[in-house]
Amino acid sequence: MAKLFIPGPIDVSKETYCAMSKPMIGHRGKEFEELYASTQPMLQKLGGTTRPFFLSTSSAWGVMEASLKNLCAKKVLNLCCGAFSDKWYSVSKSMGLQADKVQVEWGDAISPEAVRVKLEEGGYDLVTLIHNETSTGVMNDLEGIAKVVKSFPGVLLVVDSVSSFSAVPIEMDKLGIDVLLAGVQKALALPPGLSVFACSQQALERAEAMPNRGYYFDFIEFAKNAQTNNTPSTPAISLIFGLQHILGVIEAEGVQNRYARHKANNAMIHEWGTRHEFKNFAPEGNQSVSLSCFHTPPGFDQAAFIKVLKAKHGFVINGGYGKIKGLTFRISNMGNETRATMQELIDAMDDVLG
Ligand SMILES: *Cc1c(COP(=O)(O)O)cnc(C)c1O
Repeated sequence: MAKLFIPGPIDVSKETYCAMSKPMIGHRGKEFEELYASTQPMLQKLGGTTRPFFLSTSSAWGVMEASLKNLCAKKVLNLCCGAFSDKWYSVSKSMGLQADKVQVEWGDAISPEAVRVKLEEGGYDLVTLIHNETSTGVMNDLEGIAKVVKSFPGVLLVVDSVSSFSAVPIEMDKLGIDVLLAGVQKALALPPGLSVFACSQQALERAEAMPNRGYYFDFIEFAKNAQTNNTPSTPAISLIFGLQHILGVIEAEGVQNRYARHKANNAMIHEWGTRHEFKNFAPEGNQSVSLSCFHTPPGFDQAAFIKVLKAKHGFVINGGYGKIKGLTFRISNMGNETRATMQELIDAMDDVLG
């Protein structure tokens, strides 16, 4: 079996799979309540919040769409800088919402000042931001953008931290983030199918007043059930066993050590790129630390490189996403990777490059 270094889903450890193979339990019993409760302290630590984390049996898009449904009463501003953030705007439109966007070129970061200018037009009550745009390797200025959004009373901020949650510190409460969400198959190194998210008090108050929220993704249902450490509907219990395990692994490593490890492993790939004259797609100062996205140089047979790397060494990297497929390639260093496993990948890539 080939090992994944694509930016999601990523490699899942044997220990995690083992944890997920525990015998099934009922989700309305004490055992499940204990399981749910056990995930809270570390999720809250990683998110920088005292708010409860909800567990949604869906990929991240479920919660991304739900945020629009629960929170947009007037008009949403989608901050667009790549495949995932651009799509959030098209999802807003497809739901029939009033939506506008700040659009920058793929590979650029969102400027807080551009957000201010747009919000000054008025009429908005919600902003969506992708912290780490996985398609381009751009990490946006979360602090700067949050500060701008918070200066507009009544405008809520939803932050997708799918590929940054647990890779870098995030301060939900300090920054005034209203919804912080992440899917588990990226930085948390679990198989796909579960998302975690937390809502501010203000977000829940907004949701409560929203008509037609439905059931499966109703934030108020999540909040009610969370009071007794439960979920509205039957959750992916095996994935929650996996989540409990990985949060324990993070506890044992220490969050600061985990952040430092991601930074160091990412730097190894950047050094490798520099050595081979591969240029970063993301600008200096806004480069992700959980993945690297490089331009494909002219004349470089990227497809062959990726194919041989997999066939000869069993490592899978990604050949670009969306409209920059082929023009870029991406390497993940999320999850459980160590200095040694990154070095193995680097040696293999060097071997293929010859
Ligand atoms: C992968 C990803 C998503 C989409 O997640 P799904 O699991 O496909 O719903 C959303 N946002 C970011 C930043 C991602 O990296």
